[in-house]
Amino acid sequence: MFVYRHPEPNMIDKIKVTCPEIQVRGTWEKLLPITQGGLRPNGRCAHSSWVWRGRLYICSGVNEYQMEIKDMWYLDLKTNIWKQLPSPPTKRPIAGLSSVRPTRVWRDKVYLFVGTQNLHVFDLVTEQWSTLKTTMQRGQTWPYSVDGALTASASALLDDKLYIFGGEDGGDPLGQNIFMALDLTTAKWTHVSGTSANIPKSFEPNLRTLPCMWASPLHRKIYLLYGSANRTQARLQHKPGSGEYDYTYEDFWSWDVDAPSSSSSSSGIQSRWTRERLRGNFPSPRTEAASVYWDATGRAVVYGGYHGSLPTIELNVSIGNQQPMYDFTFFGDTFVHDPETNVWQHVLVRGFPSYRAMATIASDPDTGKVYLFGGYTNPDFVPAKNITGRVYHDVWTLKLDLPGGNWNPEDLHRDMRAEKMGPWMRCFTCGNCGISWQKCAGACGGKYYFCSKECQKAGWKEHKEKHGCKKL
Ligand SMILES: [Zn+2]
Ligand SMILES: [Zn+2]
Repeated sequence: MFVYRHPEPNMIDKIKVTCPEIQVRGTWEKLLPITQGGLRPNGRCAHSSWVWRGRLYICSGVNEYQMEIKDMWYLDLKTNIWKQLPSPPTKRPIAGLSSVRPTRVWRDKVYLFVGTQNLHVFDLVTEQWSTLKTTMQRGQTWPYSVDGALTASASALLDDKLYIFGGEDGGDPLGQNIFMALDLTTAKWTHVSGTSANIPKSFEPNLRTLPCMWASPLHRKIYLLYGSANRTQARLQHKPGSGEYDYTYEDFWSWDVDAPSSSSSSSGIQSRWTRERLRGNFPSPRTEAASVYWDATGRAVVYGGYHGSLPTIELNVSIGNQQPMYDFTFFGDTFVHDPETNVWQHVLVRGFPSYRAMATIASDPDTGKVYLFGGYTNPDFVPAKNITGRVYHDVWTLKLDLPGGNWNPEDLHRDMRAEKMGPWMRCFTCGNCGISWQKCAGACGGKYYFCSKECQKAGWKEHKEKHGCKKL
């Protein structure tokens, strides 16, 4: 079993909406921030991002050498300029691709949870860091194996509660399934479900790292999708459950915020978790995907991700007599989930950000726009100069052909002729896609590409008239 790239650049133009219930048109557009004197955040993955008052914030993360970055920035979405802010005060010496930082915004403050009972809080108005001291619900104890060791967990915010699920907590390297809720008004934690011990259960999501998680405020549910169990890590540590590849989950869960709480006695059924059917055109199983609930469209967005044991084969590319093949997959595809119908739709795009995992998507509550930042990929899978790894610092915005999706047909026309498809470029004249097409050297600033001298000649008149390009 193997797959072509998701999406496959050579096939992307042929895929059309034939079943609107499970397909929707969309465009990804790359923003071009002004980098004054090169001032911008370095590429990274496993960072946090959020939008507040017209600013896209980026906090901490991991660089291409798998070292932790502890800085914080924002991109002013009106002026398009990056600005650096005071760094988070965490001294945690944990680095690695799994150190995700769940950061959530509530009432003009950002809550950075690093696996300790107390949280780091950043006041967005005064731009100062402080500590929020918290307590556990009466009769409960802090459930994590090693205090402050948690990585690769997922988070969501609904009403005045911060929810944390899973991750690796210094106990079982495979991961755990602890589900915690922090009431931000009372600063009190509740251990809702799960344990740090590997005890498989059928009525709640099992142990995992890096699932997608989001809250649907209208339907009063927390959703949990896929993720993986760190079998390769267990192997390195000679622990049970080890394997040559990480296990990738194929399940989808919801947790009902308002359902009556059941007793968490050992025989009690945790009735608030429901295993959801995956209906419609849902993403293939994966881990490390980016996700967000997009208020303006009433849907959750899932982008990209990684599968450690699903091989990819290159279409129309051969080196010697062989088609390049990878024994893993990085995804660059986009999906939306409608909590009203519980149906997934595949977003059909013509251009897209490169294949990547551990990117983030943040939704702007004021403008109804969503922004993707960062992520990492394998430098063979997406050719790069730097062979140690590849992390991104690009910013993209998604539009959807749905109410609230900021749809503009003009964008689609631009995409069909010019937008990049991951690392591939499209020839403006003939639509051929390839990796080393020549940029237009004219006044357009190289936004358009040509596959050959002939195509440049043939397309020049149209490009000149359509885009006002001139020879420099
Ligand atoms: Zn061409
Ligand atoms: Zn031009």
